[in-house]
Amino acid sequence: MPSAKRSASKKSVAKPSQAIISEEPETVIDHDKSKVECVCPKCGKKHIMNFHWIGRGTPRKYCQSCRDSI
Ligand SMILES: [Zn+2]
Repeated sequence: MPSAKRSASKKSVAKPSQAIISEEPETVIDHDKSKVECVCPKCGKKHIMNFHWIGRGTPRKYCQSCRDSI
């Protein structure tokens, strides 16, 4: 019998793990939209926008206040 000692020690750690919920809300992403951190090319402010972005780096998008002033 190979490694009978190991399985014997594991048996004592048999506890119900129902309290552990491995659901992370941050991993749930919209189908094609996700929260992306953008930088405003006008005021240089960082803001979060919801759109589809597969590229790397920080996309340049106008923030809410600059968009209103255009
Ligand atoms: Zn701005």
